[in-house]
Amino acid sequence: MFIAANWKMNLSKKSISYFIESLQSVEFSKTVNACIFPPSTYIDFLLNSIGKLPISVGGQNCHYELSGAFTGEISPLFLKDIGCTYVILGHSERRCFNNETNEDIKLKIQSAIKADLNPILCVGEKLIDREQGNANKFIKNQIIGCLPENLDKTFIAYEPIWSIGTGKIPNYSQISEMHKHIKEIVFDITRKNIKVLYGGSVNKKNISNILKIKDVDGVLVGGASLNVKDFLAIYSAAVKHLCENNNIEN
Ligand code: PEP
Repeated sequence: MFIAANWKMNLSKKSISYFIESLQSVEFSKTVNACIFPPSTYIDFLLNSIGKLPISVGGQNCHYELSGAFTGEISPLFLKDIGCTYVILGHSERRCFNNETNEDIKLKIQSAIKADLNPILCVGEKLIDREQGNANKFIKNQIIGCLPENLDKTFIAYEPIWSIGTGKIPNYSQISEMHKHIKEIVFDITRKNIKVLYGGSVNKKNISNILKIKDVDGVLVGGASLNVKDFLAIYSAAVKHLCENNNIEN
């Protein structure tokens, strides 16, 4: 079970210190992996603050080359070198505001894998695609366009664009169907199983129900992960879910 906390372009040193201090007395469980994705300028600070707490840290993006004349960019090797284990790639905000294409994202994923990072590939349809019955086709094209040759370390996050930051989520059967669809597409192409996270307006109220949905292997949380109480409520719900289902993962 995986909980990814995408802080996007938020928080400060002071608020990160408060966040991590609030985690010091928490009893973490081996069954749930949590990873925080802070702004890149705070990765080092967050890693130092986390110390021995069992929380991973990841990048929100990386470049498709490992090194070179790319002013202002971040190599996946730098993320690895500094202590990151994961990187989010193809987030809809980067596809939209930074014009990232499936081709760009595939190159980034391959580069991240070369750097020994675990990429989280984000896919998600617009509301219009869903309303017109094209969501499955749209997601299939995104996956085919982005899937790396060797996907052993890759996760997929299904994040319907219309659900991100809006408080609206697909109904539970839509989430279940899409996760199954994603796993089938990946299996058909690679003969490998992939873990699929759900992302889009996950919060402390809906987390328990979302985790009960078949084929949901974890969540990617934006807004609700900025507040440490909400983050912990989501984390605890995941631990409880696994205990109740007697589903011990390491
Ligand atoms: C996200 O940005 O990936 C996300 C899921 O955001 P939110 O949880 O705020 O909808």
